[in-house]
Order: sequence, then structure tokens, then C-alpha cells
Amino acid sequence: MADPAPTTLRIGVSACLLGQEVRFDGGHKHDRWLTGTLATWCELVPVCPEVEVGMTIPRESVRLEGDADAPRMVAPRSGVDWTKPMNEWARKRSRELAAEDLDGFVFKKNSPSCGLFRVKVHPEKGMPARGGRGLFAAAFAAAQPLVPVEEEGRLVDARLRDNFVERIFAYRRARDVFTGRWSRGAVVAFHSREKYLLMAHSPKHYQELGRLVAAIAQEPPAAFRDRYLALYMEALGVLATPRRHVNALQHVAGHLRGQVGDAEQKRLLAVIEDYGRDLVPLIVPITLLRHYIELLDVPYVKDQAYLNPHPRELMLRNHV
Ligand code: SF4
Repeated sequence: MADPAPTTLRIGVSACLLGQEVRFDGGHKHDRWLTGTLATWCELVPVCPEVEVGMTIPRESVRLEGDADAPRMVAPRSGVDWTKPMNEWARKRSRELAAEDLDGFVFKKNSPSCGLFRVKVHPEKGMPARGGRGLFAAAFAAAQPLVPVEEEGRLVDARLRDNFVERIFAYRRARDVFTGRWSRGAVVAFHSREKYLLMAHSPKHYQELGRLVAAIAQEPPAAFRDRYLALYMEALGVLATPRRHVNALQHVAGHLRGQVGDAEQKRLLAVIEDYGRDLVPLIVPITLLRHYIELLDVPYVKDQAYLNPHPRELMLRNHV
């Protein structure tokens, strides 16, 4: 039941979040969790769209204007329109980054270049609305729709942080299975190891993926791989809820029936119930289950990704 291997993941990050002084005012927005914690497990790849497209430091700030679905990037004081150069650069850079094999990307919130959600767009008339996406973030997400993406502002939420880190490790695991001359047997084994993780996110997706795997021989390998990866990442994008965690935990505990005494089984279920009532964090029932599963070397569940979706040192399940 080893932890995921460290240092193999590569995560793109808006450069100002790494402390690089690339913002319009010559400052940065250093995020200490990224450089102090995530960097222990991942190589961080900085990207600053505005500097890379040719803007100076310092510079006049830019903003999104017009239609939220196809906004223009304009420097409002001088009227300089950066839309065309930024869109062209963003498409080209997104293609280059695809070749860099990134496992995820953390974007700077609210930025007209990097913001992923609810970026301010100024219409021709009236008040600005928060319905846009930064031009680079939009190009990257369109070019690499399976790569997990998130904003640093949302990562302060423990559930969203846990979900993002789960997704970057899951994306790597899934791609590793399909690397080189992959076999159907390896995919079936992978799907089996992911069972309870998928159930904690979306039982519906788990069932659907199961049907896909059951018919694996009836589809050309590349088509199967693409469909499986897309559905798998979609499943993990559904936030796990306490109710679904309780369901997954109870299923895992079921594998210990007959292997631990009645008193221990009762204790396990009581701890799971405590988690469901928000009295203890997820790490408590998980640690107890891991203890028995390791001690008794329980087949099948001992290899479940659900028990080790990311390195324990990140302590993400201490807060959900
Ligand atoms: S938000 Fe993006 S474009 Fe703006 S300074 Fe940071 S990395 Fe550069």
C-alpha cells in the first residue's frame, strides 16, 4: 500500500504565483502552498502569458471587453488591443505545453489572461459582469480538455484542493496504464483498483466505465483509450461528497468482515458514521481501515487507489 511515487508530476502554474515579479505593476502573487508544499511532489512549470506575448514589466493593465464568449483583451487607457496577438500566442503555447506532458495547471484567478472562472468582462455599455475566462486559460483548456485545471483562489477550499490533487495524480496513473503497448488486462486491473475512488466521486460514472471496460474487445484500442480517459477524468471532476465517501468507506469495511472481530467491525462502522456526521475528518476512518488492511494483508482492497490517492504528507484528507 505504497504512496504515489513523488516528483514525477509536472504542473503548469501562472508565473506570478511562484513569486516571479511579472505582474503589470512589477509585483507577484506568491502562493506559499504551491511553492512550499505542492513543489515537494511536482515540478512546477511557470508560464506568464502577458510577458511571453511581449508586454513589458511594468505595463498598462489589460482587461476583457465585449462579448463574454469571445472577449477582446484591451489596455483601456491607451486603447491598445492585444486580442489577436494574445489569442495566437495562447494557441501556439498551448500546443507546445501539450508536448511537455503536463499533469495539471494552476491559474491565477481574476486575470484577463490566466483567470479560469468568472473573470470580469466589460460590455460596451453598462456594468462589467463576471462571466469570462482569461484568453490563455481558455486556449489551454480547449487544447487539453483532460488536463486537470484549477485556480489558486479556489485551492484554499479544502475539498477543491483535495479534488485537484486527486485529479492530477489520477490523470498520471490513468495515462501510465495506456502508455506504450498497453494490454486489456492492465486496463481491467486499473479499473478494478480505481473502484472505490470512482464510487466516492460518482457511482454513475463508475457503472458507465464498467460497461465500457466490459466491452473493451469490441472497440479499436485508440477509440477505447480516448473514451475511457475522457469519462474517467469527468468522473473525478465530480466532487466527492461525505455521503458518497461514507458509502465507499462502508464497502471497503465490508472486505474486513470475518477477518476482524465483531467489536472491531462495529468500531470501524462507528468511526465511518462519525465522519458522516462531520465529527472527524476523512483521514480518521481511512487510517483505521488502512491499519487493518495492511495488518491483515486483505486482497483486492489493499491496492485500492481510494486509500492512497495522493501522498499522505500533503495531509489533504485531514481537512475534508
Ligand atoms: S496572472 Fe498570468 S499574465 Fe498576469 S502576471 Fe500572473 S502569470 Fe502573468
